[in-house]
Amino acid sequence: MDKNILKAAELIKNSEYLVILTGAGISAESGIPTFRGKEGFWRSYNPMELATPYAFKRDPKLVWEFYSYRQKIIKNAKPNDAHKIIKEWEDKGIVKTVVTQNVDGLHERTGLKNIIRLHGYIWGVKCTKCTYHGVLDEPAEGIPKCPDCGEMLRPDVVWFGESLDPVVINKAFTEFSKADVGLIIGTSAVVYPAAELPFVIMRNGGKIIEINPDRTPVTDISTISIHKSAAEAMREINQKMKARES
Ligand code: NAD
Ligand code: ZN
Repeated sequence: MDKNILKAAELIKNSEYLVILTGAGISAESGIPTFRGKEGFWRSYNPMELATPYAFKRDPKLVWEFYSYRQKIIKNAKPNDAHKIIKEWEDKGIVKTVVTQNVDGLHERTGLKNIIRLHGYIWGVKCTKCTYHGVLDEPAEGIPKCPDCGEMLRPDVVWFGESLDPVVINKAFTEFSKADVGLIIGTSAVVYPAAELPFVIMRNGGKIIEINPDRTPVTDISTISIHKSAAEAMREINQKMKARES
């Protein structure tokens, strides 16, 4: 038996204000590639060089092709056990808030209510010229145009080098400052300001549980590190919590 799983189950169960931060790793088992893994490459491109305002300026068609490819994957993907268990814990009142860096909408598809989306939504679009905002129903074909002014639309996501909505980031920091326990799942924890959130809990004397197959900067400040995949670790923790209930 894995001692860390048991310790995590106890910490979560006894928590007063549990918050969760998720990154691309939580959706890897739903078949959605992370940006930093080998499988993250699209054709010969590094996603981190395409998800930028500079790339869009230089070649909007290429960037839209990349987003359309990802929209197709996400359309066919389903929430995995890690997403589902988080929703189960929300229903039981254990999880107070989930902050995600993901744009895939998989948390929302479990019916999760208290979610703060830091980096936007892959189906969202906004005009490059006017104030138009909208949502696509289907993967983009070519470069979508603004229905109001005819200019190019762009994905309504936060690209590398862009700032986050201050209202959204403030909400996330407020939630994390209330937490006595934080569960950090599948994030490389290098993209700021999201990467700062676990440190807010640490500075307040709270405890951190990390689920990630690899080491990250959060590993060093974690009370418990579980080096397993998100779905596997969450299933094991959930089982332990249930075993203790009966
Ligand atoms: P990342 O790609 O930088 O890191 C992913 C992390 O997940 C890594 O630390 C990796 O070790 C871990 N991981 C891989 N497989 C895992 C698994 N099965 N279980 C648990 N952990 C696993 O992701 P990031 O830190 O979220 O930052 C990249 C940015 O790119 C994000 O902010 C996001 O906006 C965007 N992005 C979103 C999606 C999505 O919506 N699904 C996918 C890729 C990138
Ligand atoms: Zn417009």
